[in-house]
Amino acid sequence: MYFSDAHQELRLHIRRFLEREVVPHLEEWEQTTFPDSIIKRFGELGFLGLRYPIEYGGQGGDYFSAVVLSEEMARAHCGGLGMAVAVHTEMATPPVLRFGTEEQKRRFLVPAIRGDEIAAIAMTEPDAGSDLAGMRTTARREAGHYILNGRKIFITNGARCGWCLVVARSDPAAGHQGFSLFLVPRDTPGFHVTRTLKKLGMHSSDTAELLFEDCRVPADFRLGPEGEGWKELMWELQGERLIAACGQIAGAQAVFEYAMQYAKDRIAFGQPIASFQVIKHRLVDMANRIAAVRALVYETCARWDAGEYPVREISQCKLLSAQVAVEVADDAIQILGGHGYMSEFPVERAWRDARLARIGAGTDEIMKEIIAKTYGL
Ligand SMILES: Cc1cc2nc3c(=O)[nH]c(=O)nc-3n(C[C@H](O)[C@H](O)[C@H](O)COP(=O)(O)OP(=O)(O)OC[C@H]3O[C@@H](n4cnc5c(N)ncnc54)[C@H](O)[C@@H]3O)c2cc1C
Repeated sequence: MYFSDAHQELRLHIRRFLEREVVPHLEEWEQTTFPDSIIKRFGELGFLGLRYPIEYGGQGGDYFSAVVLSEEMARAHCGGLGMAVAVHTEMATPPVLRFGTEEQKRRFLVPAIRGDEIAAIAMTEPDAGSDLAGMRTTARREAGHYILNGRKIFITNGARCGWCLVVARSDPAAGHQGFSLFLVPRDTPGFHVTRTLKKLGMHSSDTAELLFEDCRVPADFRLGPEGEGWKELMWELQGERLIAACGQIAGAQAVFEYAMQYAKDRIAFGQPIASFQVIKHRLVDMANRIAAVRALVYETCARWDAGEYPVREISQCKLLSAQVAVEVADDAIQILGGHGYMSEFPVERAWRDARLARIGAGTDEIMKEIIAKTYGL
């Protein structure tokens, strides 16, 4: 219903590429993080610009092309690499296409689509995550520049990016009208990576803490009008949450299929464990939850692609997909028993990776707050 023949061809193309050039290295990259060269390879194959206009080096596809990429990354258990690619293609770069000047698109979007420069987005701060309006990073205007000062934390691709989209207060007294977005090249003096952080899952990606210390950014690198940053950020977050939901559901589907096959193969008390009603029903519950949320996710993707702004449904997709992904991974561990707890079986990593989904891009609790607001609560 949502995917054309061209999407299915794209799916097979991406699948073959991942099987050949990514999957064999995933375990190694869990230890070392992925090399930048793989992002370049994604760029060469056109995967970083699937839904971007041809004039900027993209493939000119629709939103479902991006959905296909996200689903295939999840299906191949790409975890941290999948998140890094999604940050690049669906979080840091969409605002440049939507709000950027022609010069900004040439300077920042085109190299990102080619894979020459990895993109990051920095909103979260040590004292402001869910409560983003509490962020303290400032951008003071001075002679054709903005001077950025502040700290950002948990920034995916932060240590390896070519540029970072930074949210800062350009007018600290103006409340929500006082935020602006800035495109900050990594080599700008005053842009420091203070540390990379160790974490529970998503090990193949890097997560950085950044410091902006009298970081002089040309005024031309402000994205959109001054003071419009909050609105732009809220728009960005919708896309971020929706693509996260697509990946979570595809990941849950892959984990379910793995657990089902295992249950058919594993013998206990002289029969496959899948023949025990408790296991069979658990598998059915997993499949049902995935199917229901996937239907909502696809419908919402179609609405987003058609230019609608369905905040309630996007938040529902983000919340439910994250919960389902974690529950399904947990169920899968139970079905695999001791093997499920072992790193050599993929459900252990799937559980660790999926756990982020209930926190990143807005926590479960914040999704519920947003949904409540749409009901006037
Ligand atoms: C691996 C990883 C990668 C990330 N990548 C990026 C990135 O690339 N760029 C970026 O900018 N950020 C990134 N983040 C940050 C992420 O978006 C935040 O962690 C998330 O928004 C939550 O913020 P916080 O960690 O400050 O938690 P807090 O806001 O401190 O929340 C702590 C707890 O309090 C709850 N809480 C807070 N407010 C309320 C409320 N009003 N009602 C009920 N409960 C509430 C939360 O739900 C949570 O349970 C990343 C995070 C991680 C872990």
